[in-house]
Amino acid sequence: MAMPKLELRPLGNTGLKVSSVGFGASPLGRVFGPVSEEDAIASVSEAFRLGINFFDTSPYYGGTLSEKVLGKALKALGAPRGEYIVSTKCGRYKEGFDFSADRVTRSIDESLERLQLNYVDILQCHDIEFGSLDQIVNETIPALQKLKEAGKIRFIGITGLPLGIFTYVLDRVPPGTVDVILSYCHYSINDSTLEDLVPYLKSKGVGIISASPLSMGLLTELGPPDWHPASLELKSACQAAAAYCKEKGKSITKLAMQYSLSNKDISTVLVGMNSVKQVKENVAAATELALFGKDQQTLSEVEAILKPVKNQTWPSGIQKS
Ligand code: NAD
Repeated sequence: MAMPKLELRPLGNTGLKVSSVGFGASPLGRVFGPVSEEDAIASVSEAFRLGINFFDTSPYYGGTLSEKVLGKALKALGAPRGEYIVSTKCGRYKEGFDFSADRVTRSIDESLERLQLNYVDILQCHDIEFGSLDQIVNETIPALQKLKEAGKIRFIGITGLPLGIFTYVLDRVPPGTVDVILSYCHYSINDSTLEDLVPYLKSKGVGIISASPLSMGLLTELGPPDWHPASLELKSACQAAAAYCKEKGKSITKLAMQYSLSNKDISTVLVGMNSVKQVKENVAAATELALFGKDQQTLSEVEAILKPVKNQTWPSGIQKS
């Protein structure tokens, strides 16, 4: 049977159509362990070949390494620029946070150079809960609008962990100013709290990018990296779920990908990948979902294991929003 093509979904009001599986390039910055440049380039190439057209990075990932490696890998594709969508971020750096107009204006030029691109499709303010949200509204976003006018970026986004940051900003900017939001670790089997915000985001015409369907490694057989901020209770519940799947001959990552991909109001599920094998598996999860639907039985069993920690998160940022 021929596999269906990876689905393209509209990204809010941007007019962009993003692949349902997006390529998270933080692993290319060795955030999750060592990755050779060869593997990084092969992963991006395989992703593009299989229909992934959306690639997300940040100057923060690996202290600019992710942007540099992604730039090389995109160039190696030899594809017309209009065939792939690139998002990067501003305001968060190895040295710390700076959402000032001056810094984000310089930041895009630095990112474009590392990415070897003339423009990025989306520039997102990175982890805004670590800055002043009023500065984001009154200074950072207006600076990004100027970058839009200058043709260096096509669309503007905001990212972060606490969901309240999105409503705070979107309630205070003119409609159509913020084109997309990127939420992470809030639409996976163990935490689906982003779901409650979907009607609001849709009413604003904002594109929804949901990152970290594997909860930054919690929902993998290997488990999370040392820096993972989850509680021990959450980590061990997720490891128990992964072990249960393995014992049953099932894959926790496939189950997790399919869970996140099932909500079509989410434009793209951004998963971090650093090998051709992971790319193939995650794209297969999407195409098999389209053909056969979810494995509801295993999902219910895993949800039962994770019930005591459902929607448990961790603190992030300098304010309560
Ligand atoms: P994730 O949940 O996507 O998990 C990534 C981890 O899972 C990596 O270790 C990866 O190697 C592993 N993995 C991927 N596919 C696998 C498979 N099939 N089998 C086994 N392991 C597999 O977490 P993430 O990478 O943090 O999130 C995805 C992307 O979203 C990031 O790369 C980044 O681009 C973006 N993101 C942005 C923000 C933000 O803006 N604040 C936060 C988190 C993530």
